[in-house]
Amino acid sequence: MPELPEVETICRDLLRLVRGLVFEDVRIIDRRVIRGGSGAFFHRSLVGRKIVDVRRRGKAVVLDLGGLCLVVQPMMTGQLVARSGPAEDVLLKETKIVFLLSKRRQLLYNDQRLFGRLQIVAREEDLDYIRQLGPDPLDKNFTVEVLAERLRQRRPAIKTVLMDGRCIAGIGNIYASEILFRCGIDPCQSAMRLSMPQMMRLHKAVLEVLCEAVAMGGTTVRNYRSGDGQSGQFQNVVRVYGRDGQPCQVCGREIVRIVQSQRSTFYCSHCQK
Ligand SMILES: [Zn+2]
Repeated sequence: MPELPEVETICRDLLRLVRGLVFEDVRIIDRRVIRGGSGAFFHRSLVGRKIVDVRRRGKAVVLDLGGLCLVVQPMMTGQLVARSGPAEDVLLKETKIVFLLSKRRQLLYNDQRLFGRLQIVAREEDLDYIRQLGPDPLDKNFTVEVLAERLRQRRPAIKTVLMDGRCIAGIGNIYASEILFRCGIDPCQSAMRLSMPQMMRLHKAVLEVLCEAVAMGGTTVRNYRSGDGQSGQFQNVVRVYGRDGQPCQVCGREIVRIVQSQRSTFYCSHCQK
């Protein structure tokens, strides 16, 4: 599932590839991915509009059209890929919408499992998901004090709390496991019981892991693709995620998998206390 590093990569690619282009037509192949209005409304809202900016909010891509936003939430298997050339060449079974842009470019929205959603809003904060987002870890204002404040009154396990976008934006299952391994914190520990030294290690690990993942173009499990259609590379350097039964790279003991809030957590019970 695209998390902060993957969506950040998509946004940076789209900024380079489609900013300044105009929607000339929209071909809706499967309207089930469109939320908050009809296909006709979606089409009418976009045609003639120019993409003035592309930015990430949590795990969502915001295409700013100047007074209107197209918000794309890839969720599990959504892809937003820019390309050029004839549109007919590229239709895949999972292509749900084709945006025909000026300069013979297209933006494809592909989604194998249809969990993703696209919505037109006047302002991005009109979407509950965005309005309720906690601070963004890549924001320069995301200090250790901000993190401590967010975790102070949260009783659930730190792994579960890290994955709550209303607490901190953008962290999902892969990076929550990797971050907690990096800073040696037990994923089952209550968030509110972290000591200040643990909090400082956690803050450092959040920034390190997410920045490294962005630098590697994200993590490809399942079918994530960046805005220019590339796979990410961070899956080649994960230390715990998906590695249950394999030796810990630090102590050699077995990485274990447990389930927290219906999601898998991977960790080393020796290195993470
Ligand atoms: Zn270990």
